[in-house]
Amino acid sequence: MHPESLMMSYGYKPELSEGAIKCPIFQTSTFVFKSAEEGKAFFELAYGLRAPHEKEEMGLIYSRINNPDLEILEGRIALWEKAGDCAVFESGMSAITTVMLEFLQPGDLLLTSSPVYGGTDHFIKHFLPKFGINFLEFKPHETYDQIMDRIEKSGMGDRLAMIFVETPANPTNALIDLADMRKIGDHFSTEEKRVLLAVDNTYMGPLWQKPLDWGADFSIYSATKYLGGHSDVIAGAVVGSTEIVKRVKTLRTFLGNMAGPWTGWLLLRSLETLKIRMEEQARNAQKVAHWLENHPKVEKVFYLGLLKPEDGEEYELFKRQYTSPGAMLSFDVKGGETEAFQFLNSLKLIHLAVSLGSTESLAQHPATMTHAGVDPAHREELGITGKMVRLSIGVENHEDIIRDIEQALETIG
Ligand SMILES: *Cc1c(COP(=O)(O)O)cnc(C)c1O
Repeated sequence: MHPESLMMSYGYKPELSEGAIKCPIFQTSTFVFKSAEEGKAFFELAYGLRAPHEKEEMGLIYSRINNPDLEILEGRIALWEKAGDCAVFESGMSAITTVMLEFLQPGDLLLTSSPVYGGTDHFIKHFLPKFGINFLEFKPHETYDQIMDRIEKSGMGDRLAMIFVETPANPTNALIDLADMRKIGDHFSTEEKRVLLAVDNTYMGPLWQKPLDWGADFSIYSATKYLGGHSDVIAGAVVGSTEIVKRVKTLRTFLGNMAGPWTGWLLLRSLETLKIRMEEQARNAQKVAHWLENHPKVEKVFYLGLLKPEDGEEYELFKRQYTSPGAMLSFDVKGGETEAFQFLNSLKLIHLAVSLGSTESLAQHPATMTHAGVDPAHREELGITGKMVRLSIGVENHEDIIRDIEQALETIG
């Protein structure tokens, strides 16, 4: 069956919950053992003291280790990417940082695309170096050869342990070729050490980009965005093979950054409408992008749905790696920050807020908001200038979204 058909039922047994059709919120810290022997057996499995007997499953112990809302949620998120397993977290940042802390060691090199999410950028540049972990950045549009050249020149190729990328890049929608990333990883892998590929899939996943199919080891989410989709929860998720997620969950147990039962329950509810929300948002975004493209006060629109065969490699990559142009778009107004601010201050339906992927449309100003921390010269180079506005398109009627944008553009004097 397709994942959308299973989001209402997969992994949940009503007979274990008084016949309730919906999974209750297991708002409990600990679970009662039927006997001391059972408690002993659960701990033997939790600590890996022995292999499970045939058909034996680990029982519920304590909500930092396991909880039904989280286990059911993890099973359902994994379905979208046909993955072995998933681990959910109390934030996207904790999902990202737990993966880096578990799989990087002092002396290692981490290769990352740039820009990445501000929190991720800070962690890589200001926290990991304290533990002797080096980083090397590349920009979208750099070719395979240029990136290989950078690694060779750094003299740290033999220490490359992980590649971490965000594609499409926020907020310009520039693309990174995941097959190339895997190739680079394979080039520097040895028999003892596989160079791991981690993809922050928040922008396009899990519907429209499947990093695991391109050889990624991790597909990581800020579940605050599309997975949650209602701007009412902060959460994160890591999706991958059973073995790799097991290591992530083990560190999560000791960091204690798992999602709580209430967060888990909210996400279970959100997943039931994930596909229809995302599809409607993308349909709306396409209409908005086409409308903006022809507006006299708009200089340029950055949206994957506007790529044409004439765009060559970028268009080919879009067709190969994505099944939709998504619901995130940016555009440059004619003018600069003043004009962009006039537009943002005049919106009535669309809210002026950061974050993305929610049912309501949001607008923000990357240069002074989400990307304020990026070095100004680097920001300019990436095309994130004062005239750029980013939109996350919601599920409202597209005519109302467009009318709101139209009246706000008209106020630019
Ligand atoms: C929001 C976001 C994050 C951080 O997630 P939180 O849930 O806010 O911790 C990471 N990566 C991307 C691409 C994001 O948009």
